[in-house]
Parts: sequence; C-alpha cells; structure tokens
Amino acid sequence: MTVFDPIKSFADMRHEFGEHGGVNMSIEASTTFTVLTAETMPEIFHGQLGPEAGGCYLYGRHFNPTVYVLGRQIAAIEGAQAGYCTASGLAAISATLLQLCNSGDHIVAADTIYGGTHALLNEYLPAKANIHSTRVPVDNHDAIRAAFKPNTKALYVESIANPTMVVADIPKLAEIAHEHSVKLVVDNTFTPMILSPIQLGADIVVHSMTKFINGASDIIAGAVCASTEFIQQLMDLHTGSLMLLGPTMDPKVAAEVSLRLPHLAIRMTEHSRRALAVAQRLDELGLDVIYPGLESHPHHALLNNQRNEGFGFGGLLALDAGSESKAFELMETLQNKYHFGFMAVSLGFFDTLMSCSGASTSSEMSEQARQEAGIAPGLVRLSMGLTGTLDQRHEQLESALRDVKLIK
Ligand SMILES: *Cc1c(COP(=O)(O)O)cnc(C)c1O
Repeated sequence: MTVFDPIKSFADMRHEFGEHGGVNMSIEASTTFTVLTAETMPEIFHGQLGPEAGGCYLYGRHFNPTVYVLGRQIAAIEGAQAGYCTASGLAAISATLLQLCNSGDHIVAADTIYGGTHALLNEYLPAKANIHSTRVPVDNHDAIRAAFKPNTKALYVESIANPTMVVADIPKLAEIAHEHSVKLVVDNTFTPMILSPIQLGADIVVHSMTKFINGASDIIAGAVCASTEFIQQLMDLHTGSLMLLGPTMDPKVAAEVSLRLPHLAIRMTEHSRRALAVAQRLDELGLDVIYPGLESHPHHALLNNQRNEGFGFGGLLALDAGSESKAFELMETLQNKYHFGFMAVSLGFFDTLMSCSGASTSSEMSEQARQEAGIAPGLVRLSMGLTGTLDQRHEQLESALRDVKLIK
C-alpha cells in the first residue's frame, strides 16, 4: 500500500475563508480584474505577476481565484504540485492531449476507455489534428512497449477501466512511459481518494468531477492535476489549450464543487463498502460479477498494492446478465418494481445508477472492439449508491434476480 494520505493532504491546505470571515470561500464572480497602477497590467501579461506571484489576476478565462482554489484542493487530494479546473471531464482530457501533442504526434492509449475519450482518440483527433493513437490492452505491458513510436507523446490510461474493471499498474506504466520520455496521463474519475496516480509515478491526472467528486449528478465539471509547469503551459496566453480553446470552469461551479470535497472521503468509503457487499452477495449466488474488491478478480492484488488505505475498492461493479435482453429486463425490474436504482449513464451519484454498457457508454466502440475488450452484451454496470439500508438493497436485488430468473 502507498503511504499517501489524501485526507491529511487536503486538511493540510490553508483554509480559504470568505471575504467577510465566512467559513466558506467567497465566489469571485468577476470576469475581469482591476489593477491599482497601470504598469501592473503589462507585468501580468508577461507572466511576471499571477495567482502565485503577487495574487494578480487578468481575465476570467485565464485564472480565476475561486476556480484556482478548487484546483489547488483537487491537487492536494491527488498529491500533485498543481491543478486547474475545466468545464467538463472531456475538456480536461482534450486540453491535456492537445497540450502534449502537436499535429503528427502519436498517443498510446488503453483499449478500454470512456466512450467519449474513445471517440476523441479514434475519430476527432485524427480528423481534426492529425494526432493518431495505438490502442492496447492496459495489462499487456509488452504490447504497450511495442506500440511506442518516435513521435509518441502520451501514454493514456484509466485507473480502473470502464466497465471491465481492469486495473492499470500505474508504477509499471510510469516506468514504461518514462523509458520513452513520454508523459503518463491517468484518468482517475473512478477512483478519487482510492488511487493517487501522481504519487505512484504518473505525470498528469485528469478527472471528470461530474461523477464521484461532485456526488449529486447536478454539475458537469473536470480537472487536470500535474506539475506547476504543465498547468502553466495549459494557461499560456499564446499556446495554452485551456486558455485558447476556452473550456475553463465557471467560478460559481467551482464554489459548489468545493463544498463537496470535505465529504468525498466518507462517500468513497461508503460507495466501496456497499459495492463490495453487493458483489460478494452476487458472487455467493453464483452470478458472473466483476468487482476488483473480490479476491477472485484477476487484478485484486494489483489494486490492493496500489490503493490508499481506508477507501475500499471503488463504487463500480458489473454483472453479466447473459444477454442484452436479460440485462434490460433486470434493470427495468430493479428500477420500476423494486426502486433499487435508476437506469441512467454516469456514476458516483448518491443513488444507484445502472446501465447496460454495450448499449450505452461503450456504444461508441465497434462490436469487435467491445468483444476484444471483454464487454459482454449483457453486462450491467452498477454505480452503487449510498441511500437506503444495505439489507433493503440486498433484498431488492435478489427479488429482481428471482423475477427475471437469473437465480432460483
Ligand atoms: C464521465 C467520464 C468522462 C467525461 O467526463 P464529462 O465530465 O462527462 O465530460 C471521462 N472519463 C471517465 C472515466 C468518465 O466516467
């Protein structure tokens, strides 16, 4: 297990009070910032003054104080030097990749990744920017090594892949990336608190804060955590992807997301506790369940060796119902008859969310790509919620499984 403690790192940060002594920070709802003397302005433009140097700000699409605080908070949780926030998770991912790669460059990426990222790598970036990628199984290190080219600029993986729950060996991947002088980028959306990829050797962490970090499925948001140098590059007035493509976060959103961070650790622990209990029950019932917290999962030991202590193995599990029609029947019964959860994409909500991956979040992949990645047509992904009692949820789940004849 790693020695990093994200709770302590977050608490060690200087607390940001409101302008009038409020216990919560004020929202800096300004798009532009005034200066006391005229010569300050060119100094800001030349990068001599900024958030860390004299506390000077320029314009809302560049750094905003409220968004900056949230960026530092996420960075503290990730054990990163710096962080900044984006309008969505995909904004964080696309800005990062466009910052690392120029036209003609190449990315090595895991084969099983979020559908939007898959489309970005396979369709958008090749067409718009002549950036191509080679896709490899994240656990096949020889194939990853063989995929590097002289123009490779990034190795891109997800901490735990959706929905197959394949775990990335982050220290090993960092070693391989660094052998080739390439940056390792890890999407840590599934495992905030649980995994700290930068502490394990990754260079850049991207987040969809729309999911667990937010926790209420009400806000789309993202973040990039990295070295101060890389965050400065993203914000560069001439060459920064975040500055120039403009997917920066709104300060009102930053203030809201910031209020969810103090209880992120408690929520992750509870999501994990319930996911493990449900996975164990499904396993006992003889069903085909995928959860890295189960000792039978091929990557159980790998996740156990990398994870921070106290947050479990994550809130996501998958159940193979055997066929798409069985998966649909099960989800409808769980939602409409037993009120176990909701049929919806996304994850990290306080209630349970269920989706059939092949027909939803992984539908951007071709059938062959899904097959290769091990995404069965009947795979139901569950993002375990925190509401209700665990006994109640077990009962609802077993009743539904009986109704659809997956168990006797
Ligand atoms: C949802 C998600 C994204 C995209 O995030 P948005 O906030 O919807 O843009 C990226 N990666 C993973 C793993 C996700 O689950």
